Amino acid sequence: MHNRDWVQTGEEGGPAIFVEGNGIRVTDSEGKTWIDVNGGYAAVNVGYGRTEIAEATLKQMNRLVYFPQGTATEPTIRFVEKLAQITPGSLERTWPVTGGSEANETALKIVRAYHRRRGEPGRYKIISRRGDNHGSLGTTLWVGYTGDRSDYEPAYPGMIYAPMPNPYHCELGGETASDCAIRCAQAIEDLIQFHGPKTVAAVIGEPISYHGGGKPGEEYWATVRQICDRYGVLMIADEIVSGFGRTGKMFAMEHLGVVPDIMTMGKGIISSYLPLGATIATKEVADAFAGEENVFAQTLTFGGHPVTAAAGLKNIEILETEGLVDNSARMGAYFLEQLNGLKEDHPMIGHVRGTGLLLSIELVRDRKTRERFAPELRLGERLSEKFRLQGLLLRVPLHAINLGPPLCITAGEVDEIVAGLDSGLGEIERELSISAHSH
Ligand code: PLP
Repeated sequence: MHNRDWVQTGEEGGPAIFVEGNGIRVTDSEGKTWIDVNGGYAAVNVGYGRTEIAEATLKQMNRLVYFPQGTATEPTIRFVEKLAQITPGSLERTWPVTGGSEANETALKIVRAYHRRRGEPGRYKIISRRGDNHGSLGTTLWVGYTGDRSDYEPAYPGMIYAPMPNPYHCELGGETASDCAIRCAQAIEDLIQFHGPKTVAAVIGEPISYHGGGKPGEEYWATVRQICDRYGVLMIADEIVSGFGRTGKMFAMEHLGVVPDIMTMGKGIISSYLPLGATIATKEVADAFAGEENVFAQTLTFGGHPVTAAAGLKNIEILETEGLVDNSARMGAYFLEQLNGLKEDHPMIGHVRGTGLLLSIELVRDRKTRERFAPELRLGERLSEKFRLQGLLLRVPLHAINLGPPLCITAGEVDEIVAGLDSGLGEIERELSISAHSH
């Protein structure tokens, strides 16, 4: 049970138990149906209840459930071919894994080994941004920054942290999105110079950061790409949340016009039907691993699993044939408009942002100063409870309501969610004596 009291869950029984799902809705064991506003962890892109994926899975299981060592299978070959087709630019060599953290662990190993193969063994440092999430394991726990990691000290060596180009809370005081983007990109160059250009292996970031502030000013990624090229540093785009239509394009980097050297994928790659992730590299990067003595050494028992490949292929087919990427763009724009409408009635909404169906509402105590609520208020927990009373399953972290519903959502369903948010926010504002007129 993620993010819950482990002991309580074991001893007193768990949370609601879910038994069925369809579209954006899930039904619990008592027969109550809920809207899963965040589509699992923003990861059920095609929606619940897709029997086509179940059928593709069963068909492959009946045919060949696994594969013998050092060989390939037909669905895995077709799957990696498909990924090469739909990812931008020259990204074309895939290393399949079983989830997002693993995809990023793989990317971080690849960049370090790549530099060694090319005669630069001193390049091992990784630059990531405060506010990005890249996973929960090993090295990935230490790239990006989303919470307290002190339990797991000592920190992984070689980690360098850069500011997030968050236009609403710019760490470097940028007044506009563009100003913030330029300052934060420059900060990466400064860090490279400070730590020694020949010691840096890669920069990793979420192109449009889910928790870290959304889409940066347009200068950001283009400038970071130039900086990486200038210093021989590789660029890794973590598209684990933002990929597979989430932002209204197949991949978020398409909004930004930049091609990374490595892209990592998870979540929407299979809409959570089975565990699957992938790391895709450009041919240039993958070529460093050509030849017997240059093999990229990594054996994952379940990597390249044919059943997940068959299910992943069906998932991408649904995204394409049902136009769900376009629906994400259209419904995302509609959703954002409705959230902006809510902002007029709810003073605790400081800012709303969204690209496609990757949306977020920032909560503030004071719009002018953008000051956040004190943690003692347990605002996130209380809001989650209010939303439950409205039939919405939506965990709220401390300062933001993040929304990542399935991409098959309709305008009517957006309206239902917005009505639930409206009521939940209204109740909390009454409890906290916040009124629209006091602002
Ligand atoms: N990268 C991003 C951007 C994520 O949001 C997450 C998970 O939320 C991960 C990586 C880790 O993926 P997983 O939970 O599949 O290991």
